[in-house]
Amino acid sequence: MRFTVLTLFPELIDTFFSHGMVGRAIANGIIFGTTINIRDFAFNRHNSVDDRPYGGGCGMVMRPEPLALAIKEAKLSSPESKVILMSPQGETFDQKIACQLASAMQGLIFVCGRYEGIDERVVAQFVDEELSIGDYVMTGGELASMVIMDSVIRLLPGVLGGSESAQMDSFINGRLEHAHYTRPPVFDEIAVPDILVGGNHKKIEEWREASSLKRTFLKRPDLFEKDGCSDQEKKLLKQWRCELKGWIEKLETLINQS
Ligand code: SAM
Repeated sequence: MRFTVLTLFPELIDTFFSHGMVGRAIANGIIFGTTINIRDFAFNRHNSVDDRPYGGGCGMVMRPEPLALAIKEAKLSSPESKVILMSPQGETFDQKIACQLASAMQGLIFVCGRYEGIDERVVAQFVDEELSIGDYVMTGGELASMVIMDSVIRLLPGVLGGSESAQMDSFINGRLEHAHYTRPPVFDEIAVPDILVGGNHKKIEEWREASSLKRTFLKRPDLFEKDGCSDQEKKLLKQWRCELKGWIEKLETLINQS
């Protein structure tokens, strides 16, 4: 899968393409990552890619010609690629969109805006989709493109090592992932839950499912709103309710002690 980023600051993206899992995926030929400097397509002698907005007002707008040429250049080596504009006005990116982009296995071309944004005619003519990474405004689209690429790339086959899996991650099944522990068995007087060191795989699975449910309930109860709970989840939540009842009784005894 080919990732092409159109930007005025290719060095930012080149650094991203050369480090960590993403760097390894590129080095191993699993994905291809490249940048195109929009300024290379500036057509005036000052190399400028922006101009004052029609109608007046503050700020500058990215001119359409260099952007259009840069997108056409990107499409030469990847004609089927989807053109995605980074924009605070786009659909808010989430794990579901990450999965869709990863499973399409289509190349992706990211257009990173700067200044007040890009000329609207480029959006009309060349952009397939606008994506935002949240309801706030940044100075440019580079960070947004890296956020999106990072979460898409880690879903691609062969990118995560054998010991890691994206299938258990938060949001994949509409829940947060369970709690994690590693060595040492006791840290700061807190022990790892017994079940996790007991070696009973069925019990470990059940503990993890319950942990995932509890965390979702406590941190992101809105995630239950969409699909409700399965019968198995209800069973685990009932067990938790019993545990909580026990704790509340202990608490009441303590409070009521004279
Ligand atoms: N004037 C624009 C507006 O109010 O909608 C904001 C332009 S912003 C200063 C410059 C560029 O940063 C945008 O063209 C876009 O590429 C990028 N950008 C800023 N915030 C973003 C966000 N939340 N998600 C994705 N891209 C963003």
